[in-house]
Amino acid sequence: MNLNLKAAAQNTYDAIVIGTGISGGWAMKELTQKGLKVLALERGRMVEHVTDYPTTMLKPWESAHRGRLSPEIRESNPVVSRCYAFEENTQQFFVKDQDHPYIQDKPFDWIRGYQVGGKSLLWARWTQRWGEHDFEANAREGIAVDWPIRYKDIAPWYSYVERFAGISGNKDGLPQVPDGEFLPPMEMNCVEKHLKGQFDTKYQGRHLIISRTANLSQAGPQQQAVGRGSCQYRNLCARGCPFGAAFSTNAATLPAARATGRLTLRPDSVVQSIIFDEQKGKATGVRVVDAKTKEMTEFFAKIIFVNASTVNTNLVLQNSTSTRFPNGLGNDSGVLGHYVMAHNYRVSGSGTAEGFDDQYYFGRRPTGVYIPRYRNFGGDKQTAFLRGYSHSGGAGRGMAGGAWTPGFGAEFKESIAKPGPWSFSMNAMGEMLPYEDNTITLDKEQKDQWGMPLVRINVEWKENENEMSKDAVVQIQEMLEAAGLKNVRARDNHQNPGLDIHEMGGCRMGRDPKTSMLNAWNQMHAVKNVFVTDGASMVSTACQNPSLTYMALTARAANHAVEELKKKNL
Ligand SMILES: Cc1cc2nc3c(=O)[nH]c(=O)nc-3n(C[C@H](O)[C@H](O)[C@H](O)COP(=O)(O)OP(=O)(O)OC[C@H]3O[C@@H](n4cnc5c(N)ncnc54)[C@H](O)[C@@H]3O)c2cc1C
Ligand code: SF4
Repeated sequence: MNLNLKAAAQNTYDAIVIGTGISGGWAMKELTQKGLKVLALERGRMVEHVTDYPTTMLKPWESAHRGRLSPEIRESNPVVSRCYAFEENTQQFFVKDQDHPYIQDKPFDWIRGYQVGGKSLLWARWTQRWGEHDFEANAREGIAVDWPIRYKDIAPWYSYVERFAGISGNKDGLPQVPDGEFLPPMEMNCVEKHLKGQFDTKYQGRHLIISRTANLSQAGPQQQAVGRGSCQYRNLCARGCPFGAAFSTNAATLPAARATGRLTLRPDSVVQSIIFDEQKGKATGVRVVDAKTKEMTEFFAKIIFVNASTVNTNLVLQNSTSTRFPNGLGNDSGVLGHYVMAHNYRVSGSGTAEGFDDQYYFGRRPTGVYIPRYRNFGGDKQTAFLRGYSHSGGAGRGMAGGAWTPGFGAEFKESIAKPGPWSFSMNAMGEMLPYEDNTITLDKEQKDQWGMPLVRINVEWKENENEMSKDAVVQIQEMLEAAGLKNVRARDNHQNPGLDIHEMGGCRMGRDPKTSMLNAWNQMHAVKNVFVTDGASMVSTACQNPSLTYMALTARAANHAVEELKKKNL
């Protein structure tokens, strides 16, 4: 065997997974558990569960700025600083603006986590299923293309991922957010229970429920098997949860994949492109730049899962050019990089609740309450906009004067120990339509330090999103007032797309290879051994948080890939 062949053999696996965030974690777990030798490539550093969570047990007075960011950090990172979760004790898991530049053809706040675990270490873990109407919406309204799957195709996979991830929730019997395999629900506090009663009496079809969340209210055998324990109600999950009660790659899917003995995890490995073999008509591997040494290596495999998160998946695919695919891997249809979407989180409102001053609650619940979509659903029909929005929210009782009240001494101590007034806030989480001219492309000249072209993002809200926002302002104001809250104020902050951190599309699924990139199994129409199972594959956005759907699509695609491998179809 000559040296090149030997190196190729050493670098050959059954499957390669690009990215180790929420979807990549599921790909590596499923593929290794089904017997494949898997190489997981991650551009960021290693983050070991527990030992690499340096701030997880810090008390407020042990952080240099009590959890706040210094003005220098905020000023030098204007984009990521707009994210509510970017603070002193979580900043180590966020990409800083200047380290990874991109081009905003239109304002787009791209929030990223580059490390083993990706954004699974940072996410808020809200996990509502999509309903039947979500998969039918495009076909019903003649928008973009039809989803190639329906709810019944994904429902068993929702159940499958919920059982392992551990989703706490209540069976509410609402078709907008079908019930799943739930651990015990977290509890609503007195104001939330009151509001639930008010909405139930005053509105038809507006139901306030406790959010379904990927926190272990009670760790079951599947979770204990990978070393996870029950939630301690600290609400410090984005620092990394040392109990493994918050679902993350690091706490859940990575240990499961490692336990098979078939996983090779390679951090600091920036996948530059996918290698396409023109003779075989297949992808044969990937080109990787070492993040530290910048050395280039090639790795080979029978199948490739692309899970770099929507924007980076678009980047890797568009950067994978060949004579057969001059415009990006598998891009016969020309849709690669088009129909990019986000979620419309521009509208929010709040008010104060009177009459509950003799009540309090214990612990810090790491989730909130949720009102599923009621617009253009059931009997409701809007003429100004298509689709709808849901609400997330929560009631809480602050300290008298607020946590940041300046002061010192005995009197001050006594005053901040007294509970302040109850308040309730909620936002609208709106569906965005897929538009052909909302795009991700690559800059022709500018490259980053790893030789990757800079991404250009050209995504904007259009009329449907603007009309929906106007309606949401009115509805939030009305609902909170109708429920008896005081000092109610709802508004549209016009925030940029991206800050929702639910970017989707660019490499959509579909029935027809002429108008889509992927088939019903998230498999490339034109390159059958490549699977894209992150947000890039989405055909529409619904208004539910999307990551549970990425997990289910990934597990389903991995199962299909292994079946096809066994049949020697790949
Ligand atoms: C603060 C916050 C709150 C959120 N709350 C929710 C929520 O409540 N519910 C919900 O559903 N979603 C939520 N999200 C969104 C959720 O985190 C993402 O949808 C999810 O992580 C996407 O999974 P992914 O696998 O596509 O990407 P990621 O988790 O981002 O993982 C992608 C990985 O790929 C790696 N990568 C990128 N490019 C390359 C390359 N070229 N080579 C190798 N590796 C690469 C990255 O470093 C990263 O580790 C939230 C996100 C944040 C930040
Ligand atoms: S609230 Fe629960 S899930 Fe979050 S960090 Fe604490 S123990 Fe972990």
